[in-house]
Amino acid sequence: MRLRDLSAIEVAERVRRQEISAEDYISSIIERIREVDGKINAFISVTAEAALEKAREIDGRIRRGERVGVLAGVAVAIKDNICTLGIRTTCASRILENFIPPYDATVVERLKREDAIIIGKTNMDEFAMGSTTETSYFGPTRNPWDLSKVPGGSSGGSAAALTVDEATLALGSDTGGSIRCPASYCSVIGLKPTYGLVSRYGLIAYANSLEQIGPLAKSTLDCALLLSVIGGYDPRDSTSLRVSAEGYASGLTDDVRGLKIGLIKEFFGEGVEESVKRHVWRAIHTLEDLGAIYDECSLPSLEYALAAYYIIAMSEASSNLARFDGIRYGFRVEHDDADWSRIYAKNRSMGFGAEVKRRIMLGTFALSAGYYEQYYLKALKIRTIIRREFEAALKRFDVLIGPTMPLPPFNIGEKIQDPLTLYMCDILTVPANLTGYPAISIPCGFEGNLPIGLQAISGPLQESTLLRISLALERNTDIIERRPAI
Ligand code: GLN
Repeated sequence: MRLRDLSAIEVAERVRRQEISAEDYISSIIERIREVDGKINAFISVTAEAALEKAREIDGRIRRGERVGVLAGVAVAIKDNICTLGIRTTCASRILENFIPPYDATVVERLKREDAIIIGKTNMDEFAMGSTTETSYFGPTRNPWDLSKVPGGSSGGSAAALTVDEATLALGSDTGGSIRCPASYCSVIGLKPTYGLVSRYGLIAYANSLEQIGPLAKSTLDCALLLSVIGGYDPRDSTSLRVSAEGYASGLTDDVRGLKIGLIKEFFGEGVEESVKRHVWRAIHTLEDLGAIYDECSLPSLEYALAAYYIIAMSEASSNLARFDGIRYGFRVEHDDADWSRIYAKNRSMGFGAEVKRRIMLGTFALSAGYYEQYYLKALKIRTIIRREFEAALKRFDVLIGPTMPLPPFNIGEKIQDPLTLYMCDILTVPANLTGYPAISIPCGFEGNLPIGLQAISGPLQESTLLRISLALERNTDIIERRPAI
C-alpha cells in the first residue's frame, strides 16, 4: 500500500510507532499534489514547505519519546473560508485574494493541538455560494471521476482532494449542502454536524444561522475521529453547544439491528432521477439485510424548504458581506476618488463575482422595509414549521434517509448560466440546515463511473447514529473503496 492511501488512523499509528516517518508520508502527498492537481485544481494554496517542516518536527519529537496528538502527521486539506494563521485565506474571491489571517479558526487550532499537518487550502465556490465549485475566482475544480463534470460544491476542492489522495482528511463548511453535495459527487463521506457542535469561530461567514464546519473523509472511522477533534464547546462562538465531542471513533459500532429508518417520501419524488433512487434503494436493502427496519414518512412542508433557505441565506449574506470594502484588508482598486462611497462601490463591484453580487442584492431586497414581512419573516416561519415536522418524524424513526443529490454529477458549464436550475440541486440538502439537525452523505453506488450518495439525517447530537449507518454500509459494500483512475 502506498503511503498516501493510508487512513488517518493508520498514518497516526504508524508514525507514532516509527514504522513510517511523517516526512516520507507528507512527501508522498506533496508528490501526488504535484502530479494531479494541474488537472483537478482542488487547491488554491499548497503549504508544502511548512508541512514538511512540521512533519520533521513531529518525527523528531517521537524519536525523543515525547507525546504526540491523535492526528500525528496526518495531512489535512482545509477549505479556503476557514482562517489559518499566516496562510492566505481567500474564500475563492478576488476581494480576499491576498488576505492572510492573523489568527487560526478554532477548528484549525484543535487540529494543530493533535499534531495534524495542514497541507493546503482548498478551492470552493466564491464565499461558499454555489453547488459546483464553478464560481471560484481561481477557476473550477474538476470531478476526478470524469474531468468534464463538476465535483459538487461549494467544498468541491476538499472532496476532490480526498478522492485522488492529495490529502488524508479535509474540512468543509455546509450552509445548504456544501459538505454533503461534493462528498456525494466525489464518493467520499461528508458530515454536517448538529448546529453548534463545531465552533464557527474563524469561519468566514456566509449565513451564520445555517452553517457548520464539518469533516470529509475516505472512511467512516476517519470521519468520526476528525469530528471528535474539531467538535465540542468553544467559548469564542456564542452559538456553541456546551457538549463534548469525544469518542465518536472509539465508541463506534456497525450494528444497525433494530434501527428504525424513515424514508422521506418527498426525497424520492419528482425531480429526483431514477438512477439515483435505484442506488439509494440498494443501500436501504443492504441495511435491511443487516437488521434495520424501514417505513415511509412524509414531510409535506419540504415543498417550501428551498425558497425559505434561499431567502434566509441571501439575507444573512447581504449583511455578512457588508464588511468587505477594500479599506481595511483585501482587494482595492487604484483610484483618485475622494468620495468614500464611490471607492466602496468600485472595490466591491470589481472584488466580488456575479453570483455573490446577485445574492447581496437579493438579500438586501428581502430585508428592505415593506418586503421584510413578506419574505424574510415568512421564511423564518416556514423554517419553524419544517423543524417541527422533522422533530415529529424523528420521534417515530431513529434516522431519515433519502438521496443527497437529485441527480448525478453534471457537466461543467451546464447549469452555471441559470441560477434557478442550479439552486434546485440543493433541494434535498437544505432541510438539514434549516432544522440544524446533523446529516451525512455516504457513497452508495455508481451510475456508470459517476458517484451517487445516500443522505441520512438524525435528531440533534445523534451523529453517532449517522456514523453507524456509514460504517455498516462501508463494511458491507465495496463502493467506498473505489478510486478513479487518474
Ligand atoms: N448551494 C447552496 C448555496 O449556494 C449551499 C452552499 C453551502 O452550503 N455553502 O447556498
